[in-house]
Amino acid sequence: MKNVIFIAPPAAGKGTISDYLVKNFDYVHLSTGDMLRNEVASGSLLGKEIDALISKGALVSDELIIKLVESKLKNELFGKLFILDGFPRTLPQAEKLDEMLISMGVTNNVVIYLDVTLEEATKRAVGRIVCPKCSRSYNVYYKEASPLVEGICDDCGVALEKRSDDTEETFKKRYQTYLDSTSPIINYYKQKGILESINVMRTQNEVAKDILSVINDENVSVKRRKSD
Ligand code: AMP
Repeated sequence: MKNVIFIAPPAAGKGTISDYLVKNFDYVHLSTGDMLRNEVASGSLLGKEIDALISKGALVSDELIIKLVESKLKNELFGKLFILDGFPRTLPQAEKLDEMLISMGVTNNVVIYLDVTLEEATKRAVGRIVCPKCSRSYNVYYKEASPLVEGICDDCGVALEKRSDDTEETFKKRYQTYLDSTSPIINYYKQKGILESINVMRTQNEVAKDILSVINDENVSVKRRKSD
């Protein structure tokens, strides 16, 4: 199976698909958004600086995020099957990631672009509620994505929270940041021939089927399931 690198507009469903892959296969999930939110939650000075950027829909600096990801990749993800969720988000990040992967000898990768309209992504962001313990996300606008008990995580039993950047106003800025800084990466990977595009505005089963077909280098989807 291939390592997965997600490129997507905000709230396209990177986290939800990552959860699915972690639950069913041997993937390790690295979400740069979660990493940054953990730093914010720690109350550190750096966390305060990060919070100011996230809350206004801006990106943290390439220098900082590359340093954080490089350390994780080399120390925790090396030798494992991994998902990068939220990195790279700029062209310099993508170029640096290539350099890191080459230096680590990691070549079996697929970049997955999640295709979603602005309208749908806005609905997914504004309706999203997240578990502060396990980061699982739910959505109040979709019955199939709602928790069993209103406002409570199915897995952890703790109260769900709204992300500070999931308001309609901040979402608009995040989307614009995506158009300006992240969308150019799509061409970068297209030219390298490793980009797969998946329409995520379909049922979870349909999306899962497409994901499986692009992460498998052989026809082994069922055999490699964790539960088997
Ligand atoms: P996410 O959880 O992926 O939606 O990320 C939440 C926020 O964290 C983004 O809107 C950015 O402010 C910040 N962030 C996450 N990943 C990156 C990255 N690779 N580069 C810069 N900022 C990032």
